[in-house]
Amino acid sequence: MSLKQPCRSGIISRYREHLPISNKTPLISLNEGSTPLLHSPKLSSLLSAHVYLKYEGLNPTCSFKDRGMTMAISKAVEEGAKRILCASTGNTSASAAAYAARAGMQCVVLLPAGRIATGKMIQAYLYGARVIAIQGNFDDALRLVRQLGERHDFVVVNSTNPYRLEGQKTAAFEIIEELGEAPHLHLLPVGNAGNITAYWRGYSEFYRLGISQRLPLMLGVEASGAAPLYHGAPMDHPETLATAIRIGQPASWHGAMKAIEESSGCFDIVSDEEILKAQQWLAREEGVFAEPASVVPVALLLKYASATNPSSLRTNAIFRKLPAHPTVVLTLTGHGLKDPETASHSISPPLEVAPTLQEVLAHL
Ligand SMILES: *Cc1c(COP(=O)(O)O)cnc(C)c1O
Repeated sequence: MSLKQPCRSGIISRYREHLPISNKTPLISLNEGSTPLLHSPKLSSLLSAHVYLKYEGLNPTCSFKDRGMTMAISKAVEEGAKRILCASTGNTSASAAAYAARAGMQCVVLLPAGRIATGKMIQAYLYGARVIAIQGNFDDALRLVRQLGERHDFVVVNSTNPYRLEGQKTAAFEIIEELGEAPHLHLLPVGNAGNITAYWRGYSEFYRLGISQRLPLMLGVEASGAAPLYHGAPMDHPETLATAIRIGQPASWHGAMKAIEESSGCFDIVSDEEILKAQQWLAREEGVFAEPASVVPVALLLKYASATNPSSLRTNAIFRKLPAHPTVVLTLTGHGLKDPETASHSISPPLEVAPTLQEVLAHL
């Protein structure tokens, strides 16, 4: 008996003709992509818009990084690489380690010491990566990886690897296919700025092919303590509890600027306090648990919807360009369980009571 073709088999199978893949490319996949596009009733009513959440936390290693990694590792195997290398704020290393394990390759990851969420750290170890903690920040780790990458026994799988962004652009394809058209506005968190570059590429390609009839405005959201693109200058000491976007020198600076300029979008910022509030709000109001970096677009929309003086926000100029009841998509980049510590600051420990019905009823 032969296996039936699985309905979900990864982004390379789904979008082969739009990717730099040949018949010789081995397929290293964990069935990433095809993630849910959830309607968000509460955000929709707050903004008089049709708001959708692209829930990338439901990828195999629980972040969007898997879309790029299936491409980067498949191409690395095709090129005969034996070792891959990356710097990471956590999710890239989790994903790289998983796909390297799948391909039977060694994976080396450089992480900023003490700045990685627990879940992500455990993933890298468990998938068998060689983990080296750098006494510095992500930007230091990426600088070292670039130097090591000049030696030919390593393939670097950071978003400087051209295949990563090719894989990541498929999220925009999925959104267009599911909505039947591109949204009017797309918001996403920005760290190293690879993903906003990739989404813009994806939207632009389907537009050029006539698959969609419009291009969205792109809104890139940074944490206020790590906001080089918002301020237009690199930062030496980025600081935010959203560790996945704690980056002061984005590698894809140019691509992100191009996305914003060509789409007539903008960058905006939210504070750590607004991020934590948005994380709780999204879980309670919509039943979706996403990691802190993922909810920065939610935080921005909540801030905008409740602002007494919305024109003080850059986002206001964007909304004024939109039609009435626009379609808006937010990318939720990673799963909430990646970073239990940060979320646990906002909960109190459970009440302990005696095992009797009376006691339990007394506390309801
Ligand atoms: C990597 C990552 C980001 C930032 O994406 P960039 O491509 O670096 O801008 C945001 N959120 C999560 C959860 C991530 O893992």
